[in-house]
Amino acid sequence: MTNPVRVRFAPSPTGYPHVGNIRTALFNWLFARHHGGSFIVRIEDTDVARKVEGAVEAILDGLRWLGLDWDEGPVVGGDYGPYFQSQRLDRYHEATRRLISQGNAYNCYCSPQRLEEMRAEQTKNKQPPGYDRQCRNLSREECARAEAAGVVPVVRFKTPLAGQTRFQDLIRGEVVFENSTIDDFVLLKSDGYPTYHLANIVDDHFMEISHVMRAEEWLSSTPRHVLLYQAMGFDPPQFAHLPMILGPDRSKLSKRHGAVSIIEYREQGYLPETMFNFLSLLGWSLDDKTEIMSRSEVVRDFSLERISRTAAIFNKDKLDWMNGLYIRKLSPEEFVQRALPFLDKGLSPEVKRPLSLDYVRQIMPLVQERAKILTELADLTGFLFVDQLDYKPDLLVGKGMTPESTIKALEAGRAKLQESAVFEIEALEMAFRPLADALGLKTGQFFGTLRVAITGRTVSPPLFQTMVVLGRERCQQRIEAALVRLRAA
Ligand code: GLU
Repeated sequence: MTNPVRVRFAPSPTGYPHVGNIRTALFNWLFARHHGGSFIVRIEDTDVARKVEGAVEAILDGLRWLGLDWDEGPVVGGDYGPYFQSQRLDRYHEATRRLISQGNAYNCYCSPQRLEEMRAEQTKNKQPPGYDRQCRNLSREECARAEAAGVVPVVRFKTPLAGQTRFQDLIRGEVVFENSTIDDFVLLKSDGYPTYHLANIVDDHFMEISHVMRAEEWLSSTPRHVLLYQAMGFDPPQFAHLPMILGPDRSKLSKRHGAVSIIEYREQGYLPETMFNFLSLLGWSLDDKTEIMSRSEVVRDFSLERISRTAAIFNKDKLDWMNGLYIRKLSPEEFVQRALPFLDKGLSPEVKRPLSLDYVRQIMPLVQERAKILTELADLTGFLFVDQLDYKPDLLVGKGMTPESTIKALEAGRAKLQESAVFEIEALEMAFRPLADALGLKTGQFFGTLRVAITGRTVSPPLFQTMVVLGRERCQQRIEAALVRLRAA
């Protein structure tokens, strides 16, 4: 590559950043880091009506969370700023003036009402939608009359009526569009703001963007951009349109498939390492089989050649699986640190705050092997933090057991606890295992009853490990409480 690599992520702050947006950001970042180039963030905030309060912060937060640092853009600045399009209006006005004076653009005075009627007519006649070019050849007088009547025009591009526009896409190869299918699209709106098309090419040019890597949905906009580059006499950047992301049912990705904004993944307790790895594989792969890759490995191996042309499938089960794996990779202490805010938020208000760090350190090894997301932790371990368990007494009575045999089992368990000299995992297991036989129960039945008494649930972290964390006294109290419940039932 001869020119320095300069790529950009150009979100519109019209909502919270979803998986697709962030995948685009990530691929641009990877490409920049792989080539030692620059990753630029540019906020495309020219659609005033659709601007969402807080969206810019959410986007930047999402990038920071994933560790996608930007070399130029909001907060950090840079030599090619400003990086908000709303602060670059003079550049777009200048470009518009030039295009008009060259005869590549014209003022359009059509009222919104007229355009509406035109569209309705086109739909009725099953014609493709598009501006009918009524103002393309207005005389000076006609323009002056409209201006005198106070009509504020929009500026439209004078798209060639015939011929083709072609470009090389680094992922899709040669792409060809018939100019006859492109209408005279708007460049400058009547509020003085540019449209996406104009602002995008002006900025990509002046910011010296080398590669435009964006979602496939923008492919059909690219011939417009190419025409604009030609009209402005600018060299276009290279284009690479990233494959779509679909749900497992191959429909457009949505919340239904478990896809939410990047901020929500953070709040649900996915690790940034997981998201980084998972998103890297949405449309790119090293070799079609490697799943787990560290950040530096992906940076080292990332290449456009390995981006697929076919849609990527977003598989939430895979995301959960991968998150469990990354949770298990954390050191015990790191896991505790990541878990703390989630416990603090998720545990019932009756649990004393601040949580005891020592106690949390004892508990977390019980669940590190099985947790998939950090928000689960409060639920998985809540029984270890409260004084009173809340469960129905029938839960104690396992399959094939009666309340009587359950009472006996609990009494035997209680006695055993009393006499166990060493309160350690193996010692406890060795002491309790033979008891089942003596009671005429299967180990599963006996341990099941104990588990409910100790944890209040039928599924829990390993029983004896849990008992050790709780300590002898609390285990005894819990068995006692279970007996009281059963007898009262
Ligand atoms: N503002 C557009 C978006 O929201 C940018 C598309 C592009 O990268 O050209 O995705």
